[in-house]
Amino acid sequence: TRISSIQAERLNVLSDLSASVSHEIRNPLTVTNGFLQLLKKSQTITTEEKSFIEYALLELNRAENIVSDFLAFAKPQSENMILYNLKDEMEYVKNIITPYANMHQVDVQHSFKNTLIFKYDKNQIQQCLINLYKNAIEAMRDKGGVLSIDVSEQKKSIVIKIQDNGVGMTREDVLRLGSPYYSTKKEGTGLGMLMVYSTINKVNGKIHVESEVGVGTTFTISIPV
Ligand code: ADP
Ligand code: MG
Repeated sequence: TRISSIQAERLNVLSDLSASVSHEIRNPLTVTNGFLQLLKKSQTITTEEKSFIEYALLELNRAENIVSDFLAFAKPQSENMILYNLKDEMEYVKNIITPYANMHQVDVQHSFKNTLIFKYDKNQIQQCLINLYKNAIEAMRDKGGVLSIDVSEQKKSIVIKIQDNGVGMTREDVLRLGSPYYSTKKEGTGLGMLMVYSTINKVNGKIHVESEVGVGTTFTISIPV
């Protein structure tokens, strides 16, 4: 079951806390990762010791995933609703996600208008897009594919279409999207879609999901402006 407005309210409360925690935790994680990478290159450690480092790096990676999926709850929505050009966010997020896409043989295709100006919370929109793109790429990681993103203005809303030709989902899977901790991935947190649903919910937006197993998935998000 997807989040109700009461749950969304609770998530708002949670946001203040997770904001500071996420930001504060990210730096030490990055530093620790750097030192472990250095240690791994040492000529004097045993194979067994090296495997300990590998485990530590994997666990660090897991912690980083949790932090980035949570970072979204960063700031309370209302204070941060400012007029921006969505085009800038689209470019920014595309740059962030491209190395990850390349790593998985995923080609990112982008199409949007030059100006898409409306009021939104920059951090939350960015995090939302990152979560959706990440999922799309992860759905294609076995055989590569195309992540296609299309943004348009329709009547009184902005419509963001995110399409992949990855593993796809059954109807039951689609219904479970946005439930806390629902994940089918070994390293998953099941927080990404919860963030997406709660954020879009807060701005009275709508999420439409079309998916077919083995064919791919299309998320269509419309945000009233
Ligand atoms: P996580 O990515 O950590 O598993 P999410 O909340 O981001 O958690 O996603 C929950 C689940 O929804 C994923 O584990 C996956 O099974 C499914 N999912 C989300 N997006 C897609 C997609 N584009 N294609 C296929 N499955 C998806
Ligand atoms: Mg995810």
